[in-house]
Amino acid sequence: MTDKIELIGLSKEEIGQELAKIGEKPFRAKQLWHWIYWQGETDFSKMTSFSKDLREKLAASYTITRPKIVAEQISKDKTHKWLLEFEDGQRVETVYIPEEDRGAVCISTQVGCAVGCRFCHTGSQKITRNLTAGEIVGQFLVARDVYKEWPTPSDETRYLSNIVVMGMGEPLHNAENAAKAMKILTDGDGISLSKRRVTLSTSGIAPKIAPFFRETKVQMAVSLHAPNNEIRSQIMPINNKYPLEEVMKACQEYQQMEGSRFITFEYLMLKDINDSLDCARQLIDLMHKYKLDAKFNLIAFNPWPGCGFEASSGNRIHAFAKELNNAGFAAPIRTPRGQDILAACGQLKSKKDKE
Ligand code: SAH
Ligand code: SF4
Repeated sequence: MTDKIELIGLSKEEIGQELAKIGEKPFRAKQLWHWIYWQGETDFSKMTSFSKDLREKLAASYTITRPKIVAEQISKDKTHKWLLEFEDGQRVETVYIPEEDRGAVCISTQVGCAVGCRFCHTGSQKITRNLTAGEIVGQFLVARDVYKEWPTPSDETRYLSNIVVMGMGEPLHNAENAAKAMKILTDGDGISLSKRRVTLSTSGIAPKIAPFFRETKVQMAVSLHAPNNEIRSQIMPINNKYPLEEVMKACQEYQQMEGSRFITFEYLMLKDINDSLDCARQLIDLMHKYKLDAKFNLIAFNPWPGCGFEASSGNRIHAFAKELNNAGFAAPIRTPRGQDILAACGQLKSKKDKE
């Protein structure tokens, strides 16, 4: 352990305050930010725009660290999964999901999750702790290191072009740190991801939804997974606390916010649970009732040992999609990636924890 202060995760203002403490002018904060988040530099001695004296002063009081890679897997389809470990030994999963010439990094916000969705492997792991803002950002920094995307390339030429906050944990149960992380990741002087390319998914912590997205302006996705309270409560116990009506009202509020276009709902296709045409019709009615301009991502379920659910058949999923399409809703089918590498989120962590 070190008593030095970790700079990753501090806001630009906080970095300014730190520099003031060691007698430096506030404008140095922007330069230091540039070294950390634009250049990806972790070694103060290489920050050549600073005097030798300042470099030494920084190194004496501060540190810039990355989470440690303790395991990694690359699947046949090039999906790249890392198990990352923090200072205190806690671990999370981070995944890079490449497309043709770009791709998304899927990051985690908690160790475990308190929401306990029945179909989710992470949900079966209980909650250990929240990640700090620095630990959330650190996952993307590791991916940038591995793919050598330093200094920050132009938007068009990046392989790590998007972020999806869809890893382990419920981000709105850790809203303050998640919001701080979103601001660091989308800061134009550093990592510089467009807010349009960052999507955060929530299981529907209703009162936090509108405030969070108003503050961060990143894209929202809501894990809906059912068209009524009965089915939703059965697979997502959180629905007893924040029932569908409250989630829908929060989505309405989000939709009315300036600049918001449409809402993305995630819908996991579970055989004989939520995949009937009747469910699709109820979903359409729900959208009409709350006047929501929505798109559905139909997710193929990734089974894991002991989960007790099965994936819907391809035919079922296509019929469901068609029903939504006919009512004017886009409903792309998200094909599973990295099937050969313990793809269900949380599985790699479980395996290594057991070892
Ligand atoms: N906690 C947030 C974000 C992380 S989960 C949320 O629930 O939205 C990201 C997505 O993965 C959610 O839509 C979740 O329902 C889905 N998911 C969970 N377990 C899955 C599994 N076994 N197969 C496929 N998708 C799963
Ligand atoms: Fe938590 Fe999301 Fe998994 Fe539900 S699906 S248990 S909210 S991580």
